[in-house]
Amino acid sequence: MTKIVYNTEVRKSGYEWGKPEDLADKLIEWDPEISKYKAKARAGIYKSPKKEYKNNFVLVPADPSPTAQMIIKPMEKDTWISFYRVAEKTNIGTKPLPDDEIRAELQKFFKQHGIANGEIADFSIWKDHLLTMNDLFLARDEGNMEELYRLLQSTEQRRFNFLSEFSLLLNANFSLNSEKRIEMVIECTNLWDFILYDFMFSKGVLERWFTCKHCEEDFQWDRKKDYCSPKCKRRAAYERQQVKGRDK
Ligand SMILES: [Zn+2]
Repeated sequence: MTKIVYNTEVRKSGYEWGKPEDLADKLIEWDPEISKYKAKARAGIYKSPKKEYKNNFVLVPADPSPTAQMIIKPMEKDTWISFYRVAEKTNIGTKPLPDDEIRAELQKFFKQHGIANGEIADFSIWKDHLLTMNDLFLARDEGNMEELYRLLQSTEQRRFNFLSEFSLLLNANFSLNSEKRIEMVIECTNLWDFILYDFMFSKGVLERWFTCKHCEEDFQWDRKKDYCSPKCKRRAAYERQQVKGRDK
């Protein structure tokens, strides 16, 4: 048994994308535990006129303050499915939606699942992750293990480039679970690693997605269903009654 761990922070007010130079103060406020030096260095990078940072969008919580309402918890298993859904919805593999629409979809994903305190999500990198997720899923779906392996190798390659720059490390250790069985625990240091390992260790159960006819939220179910919850079903029925009443 292998357990993949990544602690996320879900900010109630959600997240927003912005240009790094406009967000430097928010980024520092979001990450109170980081040493002042690191925060300053990072803000310096974002404020620098270097071209590669100029047109980037990065993610920050709408309210970055340490006292904002939030839930800190381990990321749930099978979160990769939700991420794959974003890839599907944005047509990333074929004819991608415009960037602002992709950002809006990612924003919903982050609002639901959160991201670790102070972890920088760069839009161009996350757009790339969406494509990788899409391709990984298709390769596994087709049983094309050579392609799957190739994709993992290239994402690994990029990760190592990232590692050398930011010195993130993957932590793995053992634990004894409640059934007295030894588990391997992989502690991820960033959200993309978590999604990747979550996918690789998943059983591949991909439930179907539907859009609720009442609240228009997306939800998962194993067979066709019109409403996400009994509440929405009741409300929709109630609204139909109201309309009928008016028509009389
Ligand atoms: Zn609903």
